[in-house]
Amino acid sequence: MGVFTFRDLLELYPNRHVDKTKIAKISEINPATDYIQVAGQLLQYELVGDKRSKRLVAQLKDDTGFLELTWFQGLSWIQKILQTGTRYLVFGKVSFFQGHPQIIHPELEIFTAENKEGKNFLEPVYPSTEKLKSRSLGGRQIASLTRTLFQQLTEKNIPENLPATVIDQLRLESRYKAFTQIHFPASVPDYEAAVKRLKFEELFMAQLRLGMIRSRRHRLSKGVVFEKVAELFNIFYEQFLPFELTKAQKRVIREIRNDTAKGHQMNRLLQGDVGSGKTIVALLIMLLAADNGFQSCLMAPTEILAQQHYAHLTDLLKELPVGIELLTGSVKTAERKKILERIKNGQSQILIGTHAVIEDKVQFQRLGLAIIDEQHRFGVAQRAKLWEKAEVLPHVLVMTATPIPRTLAMSAYGDLDYSVIDELPPGRQPIQTFHRFESGRSQVMDFIKKEIAKGRQAYIIFPLIEESSKLDFENLMKGYENVKAYFPEPQYWISMLHGRQTADQKTTNMKRFVEGDTQIMVSTTVIEVGVNVPNASVMVIESAERFGLSQLHQLRGRVGRGSAKSYCILITGNKLGNDARERMKTMTSTLNGFLIAEKDLQLRGPGDIEGTRQSGVLNFKLASIVQDREMLEIARNLSEDLLDQDPELNSAENLMIKQYLQSQQGKTAWSRIS
Ligand code: ADP
Ligand code: MG
Repeated sequence: MGVFTFRDLLELYPNRHVDKTKIAKISEINPATDYIQVAGQLLQYELVGDKRSKRLVAQLKDDTGFLELTWFQGLSWIQKILQTGTRYLVFGKVSFFQGHPQIIHPELEIFTAENKEGKNFLEPVYPSTEKLKSRSLGGRQIASLTRTLFQQLTEKNIPENLPATVIDQLRLESRYKAFTQIHFPASVPDYEAAVKRLKFEELFMAQLRLGMIRSRRHRLSKGVVFEKVAELFNIFYEQFLPFELTKAQKRVIREIRNDTAKGHQMNRLLQGDVGSGKTIVALLIMLLAADNGFQSCLMAPTEILAQQHYAHLTDLLKELPVGIELLTGSVKTAERKKILERIKNGQSQILIGTHAVIEDKVQFQRLGLAIIDEQHRFGVAQRAKLWEKAEVLPHVLVMTATPIPRTLAMSAYGDLDYSVIDELPPGRQPIQTFHRFESGRSQVMDFIKKEIAKGRQAYIIFPLIEESSKLDFENLMKGYENVKAYFPEPQYWISMLHGRQTADQKTTNMKRFVEGDTQIMVSTTVIEVGVNVPNASVMVIESAERFGLSQLHQLRGRVGRGSAKSYCILITGNKLGNDARERMKTMTSTLNGFLIAEKDLQLRGPGDIEGTRQSGVLNFKLASIVQDREMLEIARNLSEDLLDQDPELNSAENLMIKQYLQSQQGKTAWSRIS
């Protein structure tokens, strides 16, 4: 159970407590009753059953009813101590036998003046495992170990590790008291106070650690310096920028510009809802790097997206002397060699690619900037690998279009700085979203026909049930045949995209759709991120109940990118579970990615959010970033204040915090992300 030391035992918190502060009436017992404490007179008892299964059954009576007490073991001893006619205080778990409530092997003591108010404490119930139970280390034994441990502990053994000002300000229990009370609380409010204190401690320490990583990077890291804005940036900005940047885009570029000029490494998370225009920001920053003699690399999660970025940026940069390369898994060896050479000798300034760019063979002449698009697909380890490519760490910009709720961003990416594009380019019309059942599919197809007649294009998406499995493929093919029946050639042409195609096939299909040769794109979720075809105005998602909220939001973001009014239609089966219904409701009621992300977090919990699963930074024992968001905000603010005053926690009053953090090193998952 991860318990090796006394401290581990202290941190093995009870799952719950059994309330012994109240004495219930027997008449209150109902089938939902769990543990209960009652007081009553023992009327009689008798042995029943045969030799093989003998048991002792006693009747307890209070002024509201009768309760059976049953023993299967230690019968002769029980018989000796039971006194009929005496009043007892009885505690145990209620079960029903032939319609009568009973307690099997109850705890029992003679009712006295002293205990007439009940036992007056909450008894801890500890987790255990079957294996431990079979070796006599069940919850009760753990309780007794813990009790024994506490008998030997004093305040000195559990010293305070939070600043006095914080304790005062939030009226927190002392650490010693909190530990005592989370195990053996005298009352429910005492227990709650203990939980509050220990939860806060978890959040505060996690925030401090992340804050220290950030603060050290700001103060101590060496970073390449983008000191000037020169020709490439300026010429592009003045002559080739296809539109006016939004205020938010400008602000973010300023933030990044400041950050990259300081001589410290930038490590920044850029959030912007789908369609908010992150690509152009990435391009401008890469030009800034090139102006200062540095190379950049832009990593995308899929080959299609990498190709699209490459095509788009090559087009935008065609008048400028910037070498730009595409490296993906499917680039042939001979060509790859040439690309690698041009990167190594500095002839090319920009490398766009998939995971292929972090392979060891790729050597840059002078890498100054790494941009990771749609980062939730890249693990932390991959991020780290990129950094190893240069002597002085390149600046890192992580872009994500899956909005991350603030609390999650603060915990899972709390070591990064943070920019947000919180504004969409002007002229976008809101996407209208509908939910339809399968039975209404033909109307949906008619609707697509009308849009196509207006010159628009449509996506029809099928879910991946299990990635690249035969089933998915068949599912998609069936869907494709079905779509084809509605949209026959030569009036209509259809592109299809799926995981089994070669890179060439994918490119061709994508290209035909981008260029408007096909009106319909039938696809699995490979197009989920990044793909940009502004003329597409309808997004139909089949079996929409199989998708998570952030995926649905991503998919919807593929339309509404041009000036035409766009539609998203979610098709589901007729029977929907509560969660699925909730998701459809959320999708049809809001376009705001941050609201959707919050809802997603509520519905699925943080453990499920892509990319955070492995990082383990959210494995708190008590705290939850969903339920304790307010407390998390407070912990974040207070930890920042503390680090502003004392960045290395070296002052006398903060030394105990530092020592505590050091003692935690390697113990918690979040400490490993540094
Ligand atoms: P995302 O943030 O989802 O990656 P993109 O960078 O793909 O978004 O941009 C979405 C679309 O908006 C693209 O067609 C892009 O050219 C366009 N766009 C980006 N910024 C602006 C802007 N400031 N004004 C008008 N259109 C813009
Ligand atoms: Mg994008």
